[in-house]
Amino acid sequence: MGERSIWTGLRRGLSERCPNCGEGRLFRGFLTVRSPCGVCGSDNARFPSDDFPPYLTILVVGHVVVPLFMWSDRAWELSSWAQAAVWLPVTLALCLALLPRMKGATVGLCWATGLVRQDRTG
Ligand SMILES: [Zn+2]
Repeated sequence: MGERSIWTGLRRGLSERCPNCGEGRLFRGFLTVRSPCGVCGSDNARFPSDDFPPYLTILVVGHVVVPLFMWSDRAWELSSWAQAAVWLPVTLALCLALLPRMKGATVGLCWATGLVRQDRTG
């Protein structure tokens, strides 16, 4: 299954693949972790992600959208409704695009470091 490194886990997670084999799809639907993996059988639901993926998503999207918003505000001096019409959909689209990848990266990071949920009975 290859080496268990942080980069391997992050790369596979960012591409929404099982961190253990890199082939099976990590999610069933938008954000539900598919467990066990359909290819290697890894129990990927044992890796916690909790609030970290939304935190990372907000961090990244905020650092992209806010500077672009400020730049466009100075460059074109658009009205408030025009700014909202541009930046709210951009923000929403970026969040929806990044959230599964950030969750995958978090699961991959947990896989690489061996961090598992302690409260699961299964
Ligand atoms: Zn797998």
